[in-house]
This record gives sequence, structure tokens and C-alpha cells, in this order.
Amino acid sequence: MTRLIFLGPPGAGKGTQAKTLAEHQGIPHISTGDILRAALKDETPLGLKAKSYMDKGELVPDLLVQEMVEERLGLPDTSSGWILDGFPRTVKQAEFLDELLKKLSQPSAKVINLDVPDDVVVERLLARGRSDDSEDVIRRRLEVYRGETSPLIDYYDQRHQLATVNGNQSLEEVNDALEKAIG
Ligand code: ADP
Repeated sequence: MTRLIFLGPPGAGKGTQAKTLAEHQGIPHISTGDILRAALKDETPLGLKAKSYMDKGELVPDLLVQEMVEERLGLPDTSSGWILDGFPRTVKQAEFLDELLKKLSQPSAKVINLDVPDDVVVERLLARGRSDDSEDVIRRRLEVYRGETSPLIDYYDQRHQLATVNGNQSLEEVNDALEKAIG
């Protein structure tokens, strides 16, 4: 049973690796960024609320994202496992997820820290060209990552849930390292 959380800075390749791995294992890839972008495109109330935060590289408020994740993890396709990509991004969200998984009777997940140096990340994001990938928004997203999200590395390490994978190698090499890390 694979229940995995992907941690790492924007541009670390979380999305790409999570998608490949999820397809391989036949389990859902749950990306909060993808769900929010879909909501934005459809102009749902959630999308309209999230837009201003996303455009600036700020985090969408915890409560909004938490509600979204609770709803998604409650769908029947998660019974065979899941990969979470982009959540949790704050200690509050991590605590919420611990409680939620307890409620769902799902034993604690494994956390992959996809490690990539800052200069490589900026280069990759500038090449990607998504609408929130302008240079100052990228810089802000990295700041937010360092301030709000990187404390989760210690959070999960202390709980013995963490494995670190070097994300600064070819897609195949990262994929191999990941398969090894999750055993
Ligand atoms: P990246 O891969 O560049 O980190 P994502 O696609 O994961 O980007 O997320 C894009 C944006 O969506 C974030 O900058 C943030 O505004 C919002 N977002 C996604 N996940 C979360 C979350 N767990 N908490 C708050 N905001 C989030």
C-alpha cells in the first residue's frame, strides 16, 4: 500500500515524479496546485478565492486547502493508496493531515523530500513559463517555501517518516532513487 507525501521546493520535479509513480502504482496523484488551477479555470468560488494568493506566490489559506484535501481523500479511489503533491505546505496543514489520516484509519504516510539546490530550481521554473512563474513571483514562492514549508523536513524527520531523494539528476535517475526509497 503506497501512501506518499512529496515535499520539496517549487520546481523540484514533485509533480512529474508523483504523476509517473502514481500511474505506475495505479493510485491517485493528488496535487493541490492542480486542483486549485482547475478551480481557477472553472471560476468556482474556491478558484476565485485562491486566485489572488496564487498570482502573488503566496500560500492559499490553510482552511481552504485543508477542506479541499479532506474532500479529495474521502473519495473511494484513495482506498488503495495515494500520492499527495503540494500538501502539506505548513506545519498547521501537517497537523491537520495527521488528524485526518487518523480519522480515516490510514496509518502514517511516508514522506519524500525531493532535494534540489535553489539555483537549479529557479532555472527550471523560468524555463517552465506557467503564469505564476515570473521571476519575482518565483522568488516569493521560494521565500515562502523556506519560511513555511521547509520546517516540515524536520517535522517528518522527527516522526521517522522522512526519506530524502536527490532531485538534481535525470528524470530516470530520480525515478530509480524514488522506487528504492519507497521499497
Ligand atoms: P509548485 O510546483 O510551483 O510548488 P504548485 O502547483 O504545487 O506549485 O502550487 C501552486 C500554487 O498553489 C502555490 O504557489 C500556492 O499559492 C497554491 N497552493 C498549492 N498547494 C497549496 C497548499 N498546500 N497550501 C497553500 N497553498 C497552496
